[in-house]
Amino acid sequence: MTVDPDRGVEVVLPRRSSERQAERVVAELGPWIERRLAAQARAREAVAVPPGTVPYLGGALTLVPEPGRTRVHRRGDALLVPAADPRPALERWYRRAARAEIAPRAETAARGVGGRMTALTIRAQKTRWGSCSPSGALSFNWRLLLAPEPVLDYVVIHEACHLVVPDHSRRFWSLVERHCPEWRVHARWLRRYGSALVCSESGRQRRRTSTAAMKEAGRTAAATPRATRVELSAQGAPKSTLDGRLSD
Ligand SMILES: [Zn+2]
Repeated sequence: MTVDPDRGVEVVLPRRSSERQAERVVAELGPWIERRLAAQARAREAVAVPPGTVPYLGGALTLVPEPGRTRVHRRGDALLVPAADPRPALERWYRRAARAEIAPRAETAARGVGGRMTALTIRAQKTRWGSCSPSGALSFNWRLLLAPEPVLDYVVIHEACHLVVPDHSRRFWSLVERHCPEWRVHARWLRRYGSALVCSESGRQRRRTSTAAMKEAGRTAAATPRATRVELSAQGAPKSTLDGRLSD
């Protein structure tokens, strides 16, 4: 089961379960669901920025709408954005900015841990902050730019360490600790507030959704690719951070 302020409560049941069984599960877990929603509301508050601004590595950039503009351009602490719906152009800008911010950090981190990065990809997955493929390709979520800078640095170091140690063994964490002694603080920040970064970007801000919204998703479960395991989960739903090195 997952709880999302925008999409409501999603219950995954075995294929043959009835709607009534789903309702019973939701009723039994009511208090837990309420706690989850309250925690998510607090998370949103924690990462909120003043109206008319967007978060950027712990600071805020002021949006300056300009009629006729199609491409976002940064000027100091201002972002010149299209006057109409700025969101698509804004996301494209964040992706470019993510590459510019992350590339040098990833190069440095890879060199620092003694690994070799073969490629860098910027993604927009809802459930993953970063990944490392067996071939040494690193990928990162552009939404990391919405987090404080030390959190971004931690995720880059985390993935760079996977270039050397693919699993989450003791050896892996001691390597992370050597290069990012405060990693626990940043990992906790992501667990607590990470989901708010994903939600606040979705364009459906502050919309309260009925907790009764349910979906029987058991049928689609079989279609989930096995190779794609959750790494540094953005939704906070899966507890385990055991990831894989992705095969893509
Ligand atoms: Zn990992």
